Parts: sequence; C-alpha cells; structure tokens
Amino acid sequence: MHTDIRSRRASNEAFPCRHPSCHRSRASLSPYCRPHFERTKHLGHPDAVAYRSGLWAPHRAEVERLLESNPDHPGLLQVINFVDRLLTQAAGNVYAFKGADELCRLLGHGVTARQIVVEACAHWLWTSDMPKAFPSDTAADFALARAVFALAPRPRRPCGVQRGGRWSSSYARKPNSASLRFIGQHLRKSLAAFLVNVTHAVHQARTLRKDPEALMRLPFQVTYR
Ligand SMILES: [Zn+2]
Repeated sequence: MHTDIRSRRASNEAFPCRHPSCHRSRASLSPYCRPHFERTKHLGHPDAVAYRSGLWAPHRAEVERLLESNPDHPGLLQVINFVDRLLTQAAGNVYAFKGADELCRLLGHGVTARQIVVEACAHWLWTSDMPKAFPSDTAADFALARAVFALAPRPRRPCGVQRGGRWSSSYARKPNSASLRFIGQHLRKSLAAFLVNVTHAVHQARTLRKDPEALMRLPFQVTYR
C-alpha cells in the first residue's frame, strides 16, 4: 500500500505542472507544482491572488450608506434572516456543513448576520468594479468566503522553539478549501438577487452624485406589477 502511494507519487512528480506557463515538476499527487497547488487550495485557482479586505473599505461604506437609508427593505430583512439561520445551524452543530466551524468562530467574536451581509455586498460591489480580479468563478467564491471569514481574528497555532513550556511564535491557521468553496458558493447563490440589487443601487447612487439630473433623462419604464 505504502509502496504503491510512494511509486504513484514518484511517477506523478516526474511530470511538469499542469499550469501552461510553469515548468516546475508536480508536487506529490497534485497535477500542479507546490506553489500552484497551494494557490489552488487556498484561493480556488492557480492564478488567483489574495486580496486584503481593506481594499473594499470604501465599498463597505457605500453599502452601509445604502442599507442605513433603507433599513426596512424586505430583501435586506430576508437575507439577514437567511444568514441568521445559517449561524444558528452552525452554532447547533459545527459539523452541520463545511465551514460551520468558521461561522461559529465569527459568532464567538460577536459578528452579526448583518455584518456578514454587508461584507458580502461590499466584496461583490468591489468585484463589479474590478472585473479582472478573479480568474474564475470558483476563485471569486473563495474570495467571498475569505472576506467573510476575515470578520474576526483567526485562531493561532504555536510554532518556533519551545522554552519553559511556551512557544516562541505563532501563526494564523488558514481556512480549509472545502469551507471556502462551500460557504463562498452558498452565500453567492443564496444572496445573488440581493447582491445584484445592492450593486445596481450603489452604481445608480454614484451616477446621481456625479450628475444629479441623470435619472430625469432615462426613458419612462412600465411599472412592474
Ligand atoms: Zn506550477
């Protein structure tokens, strides 16, 4: 058994990385070299880039402004209710779905369903301004989940040298790829209509700020019944 895995690993490592512009050899049983494998695992695509949530801070402020001026919007109440139920389910059983442990951690730090909704909207809005930010939908899903998971500090693991029962250093444990994939995809699919609506409203608000009479020039539309 062990020899079998060892020989499969050795024969796989003789092949080049699957990435078209990479000449390194494959890592272990992966179709990619180590760096491309790590990117795929943590970011959802071998060419994906990790972005810091400070980048969409202005977008977060725009979303907050919109939501604060529409506190009773039925769509907003519906998505907050949806995320609240997801958090309750995670709190009841950390194995209920992939990433439930991450949502439990957020709950433990006092993160609310509304904060998660705002972060998802801000990330979506930022993505709409940066259409080339993600090489695939999966990478965008991973990034959405990473943005939400970053709402509370990550648990740290000790490392370095141990002196007198204490470790010299520590590092933040990364979220696992199954959690990133599931939570990212689940949030995108479940909140899609709301995310699109918020993005559209913010774009409209931007246009109006630049040109206050812009809406007057739009053709009349038949009222939706
Ligand atoms: Zn590679």
